[in-house]
Amino acid sequence: MPRVLLLLPTTTYRAPDFLEAARRLDVDVTGLLTVDFRDPEACAWRVAEFSRAHPIDAVVAADDDTVVAAAAICRALGLPTNSPEAAAAARNKGILRRRLDRAGVPSPRSRLFRLRENPDEAARSVVYPSVLKPTFLAASRGVIRADDPDSFRAAWRRIEAILRQPEVSAKGGTAADEILVEEYIPGAELAVEGLLRDGELEILAVFDKPDPLEGPFFEETIYVTPSRLPGATLGAVRSATEGACRALGLALGPIHSELRVNERGVFVIEVAARSIGGLCSRALRFGTGVSLEELILRHALRREEGRAPRDPRAAGVMMIPIRRGGRLEKVSGLEAALAVPNVEGVVVSAHPGQLLVPLPEGSRYLGFIFSRAATVERAEAALREACAALTFEIGD
Ligand code: ADP
Repeated sequence: MPRVLLLLPTTTYRAPDFLEAARRLDVDVTGLLTVDFRDPEACAWRVAEFSRAHPIDAVVAADDDTVVAAAAICRALGLPTNSPEAAAAARNKGILRRRLDRAGVPSPRSRLFRLRENPDEAARSVVYPSVLKPTFLAASRGVIRADDPDSFRAAWRRIEAILRQPEVSAKGGTAADEILVEEYIPGAELAVEGLLRDGELEILAVFDKPDPLEGPFFEETIYVTPSRLPGATLGAVRSATEGACRALGLALGPIHSELRVNERGVFVIEVAARSIGGLCSRALRFGTGVSLEELILRHALRREEGRAPRDPRAAGVMMIPIRRGGRLEKVSGLEAALAVPNVEGVVVSAHPGQLLVPLPEGSRYLGFIFSRAATVERAEAALREACAALTFEIGD
């Protein structure tokens, strides 16, 4: 039986879906629980030792935090992979911007600052509106829009406090000293889910994000697919995503990109060498019920025969944002939410008693709602109706 090494960071939402995919494919799963993913070379060495007695056929990173280690391990085992250097470049937003600029891929203009620099001078030297962000966090954590020098300084201090949290600074290493400031790009936002084979991009889905994401914090809520944007725009979205992958040196495996579209064109906000985060992949189905995780495992195992296209129905997912901090006391309305037509599932991932932290400091969601319908309009409406049926009681 083939053996897959699954790299699951402790914070991942994805473990059950990858394990279920492995079960369906009848592959053995080995997890790496006791290694430090921040040290890819040490991971590679440990796994190479292990694989002498237990050969490994594929390595899959379940989330952002493990993609570089996965590439280093594949390299040590002689398995096909992106270079660890390319995987690392995609993880640092400052390096990403430099690569995209150099390759001429449209992306926001940016400047990288260090925490030791003077925020007053920095505030005077940038254009507004701008977006300040850490270079290595995800889920919009620490991403803040500033419209003037005062809000710039406030955002800087807030990001500095996040970067100084022990768990964050340990994760970031030298990047925990960086604040990236970008030009704010207005417009509609979309997300692309894709799979690279020998540098060729297969687009698995393009999601529209119909809720305005204008800041000051960028709370993700609704994703719906297929996109309602015109074909010509989607062509430009494909070219920009392909260009971004090439600029980073990514040629293999899942990618997830976020782009903004306005009258000036298409801008790449982010490209990551991983699949969509949270439980959002559950919005996607291929053929007769094949999951994105199964597709990714098949790709890693080089067992892609009989690939099926995406379920043609419209689909949506809503990440239920944390609107107020405090302890989660009680969730009600689940049955009513589930009874909304076209709603396929509701998962409350926060548990009673959990301390909820809203953006920009937090990085988790209350839960996820899934819909499937004949049209994107219906898929979107179902998510809104189901969300309105839910009540979260949050104490102090
Ligand atoms: P993360 O990796 O944490 O999701 P991103 O850099 O993708 O961080 O930013 C999160 C969100 O913030 C984006 O999806 C987008 O809505 C918004 N955002 C980030 N940078 C910009 C920018 N330069 N202009 C406009 N919006 C931005």
